Formats: sequence, structure tokens, C-alpha cells
Amino acid sequence: MNYLETRGPHQIGPWEVVQVVEWEGEAFPHTFLFPQISLEELREASPAGKDARISRKGMIISSTQFFVLKQSGLVILIEQGTGNDKTRPDEPYWDHQKLPYLETLASLGFGPEDVNYVLLSHLHPDHVGLATTFRDRQWVPTFPCARYVMHVDEWTYWKNLPDRPCFIQDSVVPLVDANMVEWAGAGDEIAGIRIHEAPGHTPGSLLFEIQDTNVWFIGDLLHHPSQVRRLEWPSGSFACDHALLCQQRQKYFSQFAAAGALLFSVHLGNSFRVEQDNTAGAYNIIFTSETRKSILVSDKGEYGYGTTNTSKERGSCQTGRVGLCR
Ligand SMILES: [Zn+2]
Repeated sequence: MNYLETRGPHQIGPWEVVQVVEWEGEAFPHTFLFPQISLEELREASPAGKDARISRKGMIISSTQFFVLKQSGLVILIEQGTGNDKTRPDEPYWDHQKLPYLETLASLGFGPEDVNYVLLSHLHPDHVGLATTFRDRQWVPTFPCARYVMHVDEWTYWKNLPDRPCFIQDSVVPLVDANMVEWAGAGDEIAGIRIHEAPGHTPGSLLFEIQDTNVWFIGDLLHHPSQVRRLEWPSGSFACDHALLCQQRQKYFSQFAAAGALLFSVHLGNSFRVEQDNTAGAYNIIFTSETRKSILVSDKGEYGYGTTNTSKERGSCQTGRVGLCR
């Protein structure tokens, strides 16, 4: 079933935070993320039970989601999921997708024109999809009154690629063309959200911290719980600069552990904390319990992503799989 599920609301400082989960399930074989690591090693480095996020068959459990932050007179979205109507031939389940995004946001009490800011950790297609809508035969910003926040290095990187990927063309270029982008970097603060830089996964990756709450949204700093314990482990071909990504994990995990920070990550489902494990000289991950509230169903069959490519050719647009670092 194709659906959006909301989890929350979580009351965090003055903010009501809701996770809008597009999907959670078996994403790809473990070898896709960890080509050199055996399933046994992976299980050993992962937490017990369902928190391991490894299926019996050795598939990695992943999620795609974005976050709604609301307080009186202010709506912020963090990340933008995969979006509707996009041509994604390499990702059949995202290809010309129809998810009830606006209906879900309406059920949370606001419309597209009420969104003040959209914060984008980076510009991969599973983080920018909802940013634009296809209307009158063109892609236009979905949230007409919002400022879309990103790092200028991220945009510079993608815009200068000789073969600019379709998700940049259909989901980011229209924002820039409409002068709706706000460039942000380390130390900036936007409506009570502090911006942190974490280049590595992509050149301009950002993390977002709700000020005075110790709650962070950490983009794609990691893709699997085992990377808290083995922060040197790869994320398949997803990272642009793996060595730099590892440095970011080291820097931020030690900070998160010391502060007891609560973390939301797009691909790890529910929020979690990391703690220092002095015996092992590593970190442990502790998931918080989840709250499911409602499910809105759309009309487009079964959903998942990344395991096979069964889509028919619908054009020349290539996403180059999810990793997309070219
Ligand atoms: Zn991602």
C-alpha cells in the first residue's frame, strides 16, 4: 500500500514535531550498503532485535521521511522526501509517484501557503522531492511563501555537473529561478533552528539543531545503526567523500553522546540517542519508542524502493540510483 504515516506529535521545546514517513521497509541487500562487510559482522555491530534494521534475509531496513515543525504562526519543514510526479526511472517506486502530501499537511492543520521555511540537509532526490509541484506543464515551488534553505556549496556542486541530474532540474532549479532560496551555513540561525555544516555525504550537507532543546535533524550522516558503532563503515556509493564523512561522524557523535542529544535521521525511522561505550572505544545507539498516529492512503499500489528496476523507460532522465554522487 502506498501511504504516508505520521508519527508524533513530539513536543520539543516550543515546537510540535511530526514525522511524515513515506515508507519504511526492506530497501536493499546489505552488500549494497556494505560491500566488504559480512552479514555476521554487520549483525554483531548492530543493536539487538528490530533496532538492528536488518531483515532475516539480510536486507537493510530503511525509511524515507520528512519532518514538520509547528508553533504558533510558524511552520518549518525539514527535508522534502521523494515527491510526486517526478520521472525517476532508476527508482521505480518514486517514479511518477502519487502520495497524499498536501492532504497529510492539511490534516496537521496547515496549507502550502502557511509554510515559512523548508530546510534541506542536501539535494539528493529523497530529500528534495516535495519542494516542487508539476503545474501548468512546469515545475513550481510547492510552498509559495516559503524560503528554501540550503548551503551554497551544495548548489554549486550540483549546478556545475556537466550532466546535471533530473532531480536537480525538476526539484531545485525552479526554487533558485524563483529567488526563493536562502543560503545558510555554520552558525546561522533560522527561526530558532541552528545550522551546522557536515560536508562529506555531499559537499554542502547541513545538520539542523532546534535551539535550546538538544534535538537535532542529522540528514544522511548515517544510513544504518551499525555506523554508530563502526563509524568508518561505508554508505555504499552514497557518500561523495567517505573520509570526510567519517570525520563528521566522529565529531558529531562525540558531541551528541556528551550532550545526550535526541537525533532524527531520514533513513533510520525513529529518533535515537548515541552514547559513549568506553569498554569498546565506540558508541552505542539507543532508539526511542515510536508513536503512530494516522495513515493516509493514496491510490498507487505497493511501495518500496531501490531493490529492482522494473520501470518502463519514461524519458532520458537518469537518477543514477540513490547515491548519485557523480
Ligand atoms: Zn537520503
